[in-house]
Amino acid sequence: MGPGGSRGLQNRWLFKGSGRFDSCLFRIMKSMYSSIPQVETLLQHEQISRWFALIGRPLTADAVRIAVARCRSIIGQTQQPITFDEVLSACEAEAQHIYLGRVRPVINATGVIIHTNLGRSPISKTVWESVAPLNCGYTNLELSLQSGKRGGRSAFAAELLRSLTQSEAALIVNNNAAAILLILTAFAKRKEVIVSRSELVQIGGGFRIPEILAASGAKLIEVGTTNITTVDDYLKAITNRTSMVLKVHRSNFALRGFTEEPSTADLAKALPTDLLLVVDQGSGVLDDNVAGEIAVHRHINAGAHLVSFSADKALGSVQAGCIVGTKAFVDTLGRHPLYRALRVGKTVSSLLEATLIERLNGQMLPIEQFASRPMEELETIGNQITDAVQNERLSLVDSTMTLGGGSTPDENFPSRSIAIEGPKAQKLVDSLRARDVPIIATIEKDRVHLNLGTLFDHQIPLVISALRELLEA
Ligand SMILES: *Cc1c(COP(=O)(O)O)cnc(C)c1O
Repeated sequence: MGPGGSRGLQNRWLFKGSGRFDSCLFRIMKSMYSSIPQVETLLQHEQISRWFALIGRPLTADAVRIAVARCRSIIGQTQQPITFDEVLSACEAEAQHIYLGRVRPVINATGVIIHTNLGRSPISKTVWESVAPLNCGYTNLELSLQSGKRGGRSAFAAELLRSLTQSEAALIVNNNAAAILLILTAFAKRKEVIVSRSELVQIGGGFRIPEILAASGAKLIEVGTTNITTVDDYLKAITNRTSMVLKVHRSNFALRGFTEEPSTADLAKALPTDLLLVVDQGSGVLDDNVAGEIAVHRHINAGAHLVSFSADKALGSVQAGCIVGTKAFVDTLGRHPLYRALRVGKTVSSLLEATLIERLNGQMLPIEQFASRPMEELETIGNQITDAVQNERLSLVDSTMTLGGGSTPDENFPSRSIAIEGPKAQKLVDSLRARDVPIIATIEKDRVHLNLGTLFDHQIPLVISALRELLEA
């Protein structure tokens, strides 16, 4: 309820009446209201001013105003005075509510390593620290130090991507959706793009292939059926308006059973040479070691002209969209006016560069560490937590984890979880989420599950104290 919610009631009480009783009440109530401190006074109190650092002064002031109005309405309704401490805690509750809207660290106990709602892949700490000085000062983002002239933006990150994907050239934009929009706008506007019906997918929050196509001005030509699409289906759909064949990674679902689809190589061999073959690879898997995924370089070597993918999924870096492929086409994209609106700044360029160097040097990124953690280690973490909490509602159970992020939809691997028995599972999940460092848990078969597979070591004590407090309460 907003602060104005009960003001009508208050006014009726105070001003509608006449007679002595009412005027006496009016005086008492007035003094009760005046016991509420001024907004400015409250803002100077250290219990309130400490919120400036967390939500900023103007929003703290909003919180105080809302709380003061609420206190006034409570006085109006109850005709009881309110203490200073009560006003303070009302202000704090309001500030806390506002603070919940801010992005902050959470504990991922879902077992989904690349969780789109939880910021996808965590960035390696050494990567983050290495780019701090560069981001807090000036950089040669678009200046060639060799020639002293204007250089290519994100040129070094592109060079690394090129090398990692065995491509001729690379370009970096804001995300993979932007990459596809740019490719379609530059090459397929007012022309036809052929896509298999089995690949007309929606990925996560509202990214729908047909809608991106429509937004770019390209005309979608659907071929094949949900489960079977053949090379012939593509060939038969070609007209003199066709500009492109787009293959899309199905990302968050798997097709099983009686299915058939041509590979990138099949299409590259069969399609006329003047048609572009573009692959939305999605996940950014670069090696052959992820089951169910085709690495980017496989599509390039199979003859795709352009391949696009996200940098914050299996690549383990910052949010960005990568486009790799034939130099002439990548250059065209880099010169397109839309690229100006989609290009990345120094923060993304530097983080991507540093991640790619770690990868190229064989260092393990956080998502790879989670994906390869031995079961014994999860067992140890689980025992550490259950031993410390000592509550008969807790048990250590077998579970599974997934890579997530729209990759390997069909692949789970083993994990261990802490299961919490007892009633009101949803309430417990909500309480875990409401903590200072929120813990994001799931419910499985009426039990709360804390998947240990995606827990950072430094978060173990936080989980222990959360469980102690919530289960004892
Ligand atoms: C994730 C994904 C996208 C969207 O990528 P963003 O980087 O989130 O814009 C597009 N296509 C596929 C196949 C994906 O998996």
